Order: sequence, then structure tokens, then C-alpha cells
Amino acid sequence: MADRDGVIWYDGEMVEWRNATTHVLTHSLHYGMGVFEGVRAYKTPKGTAIFRLEAHTDRLFESAHIMGMKIPFTKEEVNQAVIAAVRDNNLDSAYIRPLAFYGSEGMGIRADNLKVHLIVAAWHWGAYMGDEALQAGIKVRTSSFTRHHVNITMTRAKSSGAYVNSMLALQEAVSGGADEALLLDPEGYVAEGSGENIFIIKNGVIYTPEVTACLNGITRNTILTLAKERGIEIVEKRITRDEVYIADEAFFTGTAAEVTPIREVDNRQIGIGRRGPITEVLQKAYFDLVTGETDAYPEWRTIVS
Ligand code: PMP
Repeated sequence: MADRDGVIWYDGEMVEWRNATTHVLTHSLHYGMGVFEGVRAYKTPKGTAIFRLEAHTDRLFESAHIMGMKIPFTKEEVNQAVIAAVRDNNLDSAYIRPLAFYGSEGMGIRADNLKVHLIVAAWHWGAYMGDEALQAGIKVRTSSFTRHHVNITMTRAKSSGAYVNSMLALQEAVSGGADEALLLDPEGYVAEGSGENIFIIKNGVIYTPEVTACLNGITRNTILTLAKERGIEIVEKRITRDEVYIADEAFFTGTAAEVTPIREVDNRQIGIGRRGPITEVLQKAYFDLVTGETDAYPEWRTIVS
């Protein structure tokens, strides 16, 4: 990733991709306190558009606030940095990574002279689990690793350190032959994937866990909006693992994963064993929205110009 052409926005300036470095004593590298976002931009008929930029920037600032980190830029400056990272790399579609981290000003968890730095990188990144997964669905394994408790790491924050848990779960799932992990919360109820929110459908009703152990996903919110518009009943509640086994359909959502159907969980086929009909409707609605195939919600597409 580091050895490539392009530019990265770094503390207010565009720097050459290869020069966007930091010291080995970078505090966040040692203790994991950093906050970040994953944003996507899509090619649309009106030009490249960043999807729900304001929502991502708001969540970045909320994550920083929860962690007690003060981002030394305004939200508008961050929005402009995201736009510039896409524009200056000549990307017509992109995955965008804003990251706020503590620098190498001090060491130890008592360091009190730390500065918050901010980078925004953007690069081309296709379907997170491959194009095939978007149609055929993926195999999921319930993880032996429990999702964070609300009072251990702060689950509303998208913090770097929280992803140790995601990586442990994903490594276990993939090494066991699955594509993704399903993490349960500390009480044993369904929480989310390693980087996705989960939805199940039973008898035409959509169920998704309440936002407690899981991240308050922006794609989750978009899907709930699209489902409501289509008159589909939605219930946010605690979900058990066996409810997922007997669901008619299931899918993951995330900025990277978009809307990825689940075809199997713990070697049990889910519904028809591929993308179900309601999943297909919502997936198409999502792609139509992000790619500007529909004019709905123009405020969710920030055109890069
Ligand atoms: N849960 C976790 C743990 C994630 O990392 C992500 C990806 N940011 C999500 C859910 C989905 O969030 P969003 O739709 O905002 O990308």
C-alpha cells in the first residue's frame, strides 16, 4: 500500500503517497487509540460522488469526542480534505480512509503532550468480498471471540483499537473456511460482523440488532431508510443465533461490504442458500442510490469537482 504513486492529505497538506510516513514511536501504533472512517465514492452520471460524507465526518468527530481526542480541524475542513483526496488522485470511484491518531510527541499511557494528527487517503477498492459474493452470498461462522462490551471499549466509537477484536474474529473465520465472522455480544446475542452490521428477514419482516454492541453503521441507517420507504416492516431488537439459522434471508451491510447476502451460517443454509428476494430489492436500491441511478437523496451524494 505504501509504495505507490498518488497523494495523501496529511495535517492540512497534500504529500506524496510514499512520503506520508510517521515515526515508529507514534503513540497510536503502540496503544491503539485512534479513530477513523471508511467512506466510499462512486461514479455517478453527475460525476464522482462521495456517499454520505457529512454522516461519516460527524461520526469521526463523535468517535474522537468519545475517546477524548480533539481533532484540530473543523468538520468542513475534513469534508474538503476528503473531496481533495479523491480529486487529486484522479479517482472516479474510491474507498476513502480518514484517520485521526496521536503522534510521537510522547510515550506511555500517561503522555500528556500528544498531538492529534489527521490523514485522508483514497484509493480504488472494488467489492470488499468480491463481485461474486454480492450475488451468491457468503459463508459465515459464529465467532468464539465476543464483540466488545459497551463498557470496555466504547462501541459507538469507530476506534482503531477496537479492530483487534475484528481481526481475531475474521482470522478465525477465514482460517476455518468461512468468508466472514458473526460476533455475539457479551450476553450471547447477535451483534455484527467483523466490519459489517447484520440484518435478517423472517416472514417479510426485517430484523436487526439495536445499536448497543454493534457500530452505528451508516449503511445500516441507509438500508433502514430504504426499507421504510418500501413499506417493509422493520424491528430493531435482540437477535439470537438460532434466529439467524432459521431466517428466510440474511445480509451484512457496511461501507466496504455494501449489501452482502449471507448464504450459510455455521454450515446451515440460510433460506434459499443465495441472495433472497428482499435482499435483492434492497441491494439494488442501495446501488442505485450510491451510483446516482436514482435522484433520491441528492444531499447524500457530494460531487467531487
Ligand atoms: N460494524 C463494524 C465493526 C464496522 O467496522 C463497520 C464498517 N465501518 C460497520 C459495522 C458498518 O458501518 P458503515 O455502514 O458505517 O460502514
